[in-house]
Amino acid sequence: MNEHDSELIAGMLENKGYISAEDQNDADIIVLNTCCVRETAENKVFGLLGRLGRLKKQKPHLIIAMGGCMSQQEHIGIRIKQRFKYVDILFGTHNIHVLPELIDQVENQKKQIIDIWSEQKDIQEGLSVKRFQSVRAWVSIMFGCNNFCTYCIVPYVRGREKSRRPEDIIGEIEELVSQGYQEVTLLGQNVNSYGKELTSGIDFADLMVMINDIKDLNRVRYMTSHPKDFSDKLIKTISHLPKVCEHIHLPVQAGSNNILKRMNRGYTREYYLELVEKIRIAIPGVSLTTDVMVGFPGEADADFADTVDLIKNVEFDSAFTFIYNKRQGTPAAGMEEQVPDEIKVARIEELINLQNKISLRKNKLEIGKTLTCLVEGPSKTNINLLSARTRTNKIVVFRGKQDMVGKPFQLRITGCSLTHLEGEVIPAE
Ligand code: SAM
Ligand code: SF4
Repeated sequence: MNEHDSELIAGMLENKGYISAEDQNDADIIVLNTCCVRETAENKVFGLLGRLGRLKKQKPHLIIAMGGCMSQQEHIGIRIKQRFKYVDILFGTHNIHVLPELIDQVENQKKQIIDIWSEQKDIQEGLSVKRFQSVRAWVSIMFGCNNFCTYCIVPYVRGREKSRRPEDIIGEIEELVSQGYQEVTLLGQNVNSYGKELTSGIDFADLMVMINDIKDLNRVRYMTSHPKDFSDKLIKTISHLPKVCEHIHLPVQAGSNNILKRMNRGYTREYYLELVEKIRIAIPGVSLTTDVMVGFPGEADADFADTVDLIKNVEFDSAFTFIYNKRQGTPAAGMEEQVPDEIKVARIEELINLQNKISLRKNKLEIGKTLTCLVEGPSKTNINLLSARTRTNKIVVFRGKQDMVGKPFQLRITGCSLTHLEGEVIPAE
């Protein structure tokens, strides 16, 4: 989501006449698009701001702007005002679209501008976007979150759920297809609750049907799905839609009912396992990935054992693993029984080791199969190879020609590592 916000920011800057600089030392404006979901990301921003302060001393005309979720927090605004006076513009998540005006203001007034809106007034349509990729594109279908998981800062910095109108989403995707994009990923904190506040009565399943009908679109992905809202209607619908890929990111967070309750996740371990079962029956070969957290306040050895057990039971294709950290203003930050750091570290190591073994085992099962893969461009790790993606969201690196980019091909899987598959083109008969 932040990556897509960066595409919006870059698009607005290009519209204003800026071009992207190869090196930050050459830039006339530097915009930091921040995330506050975890503390490590915040610490990195302050480190970077320190370095940019030194750059600004050498280049006083440099404009430094900071946006994103971090800026949206009151205490961060105060800190920037007091300790980082050389940050020219602080803007939030609800007013990204006014950045061009703020740049004009700072150029005219030459003083720090802090402009944070407490909520998004209307969804801004038609903003120019500079897409960073050429084959697949992000498309936001909704903003904000209503769930208030007790550890999470997102609802406080991104506001309440607001869905885009179906016609605006379809229009954007049709435009992307006309530009040659093959694949879209629909974005929302909880895509399954899409449309709840719209008067049209169109829900996420209905939207998927409409998107599947878009001519010349090849693939549709979506994230993130909240388990509590993943309805039987949705499972049935997507299982019949040929363009919707067989991959679901379904964050579980924890395997213990006690912890799930304290997290306010709105489901139990049994419900989650049953949901996985239903999905696997309806969509054979589906890949499942998840987010899982260790060290939530009150997580006892038995609770962690339940998480380990769930991970072993489901066998996710891959998982993002997180150590819980306190986010100021969230209910969990004030909970007693915070878990000591050394226990959190031991637990995350155990979990990562377990998941790595499962991911590798699952990747090995792909060897020998022939899979339809959409070619995305050069491999990130070896520019002599190309990178493609299976419908199940696995990366396949293979030897191929540049003109294959943007097209689907049948690749035979010949090997794998933990993070990707290796393949070869099947010669035409
Ligand atoms: N909306 C998605 C959902 O409900 O699963 C997730 C969005 S959140 C930005 C991405 C992931 O960050 C979460 O799934 C969670 O595992 C992790 N996360 C959020 N708050 C956290 C915290 N305080 N400490 C550690 N991890 C956190
Ligand atoms: Fe955060 Fe929960 Fe909303 Fe996801 S559903 S963004 S974890 S509050």
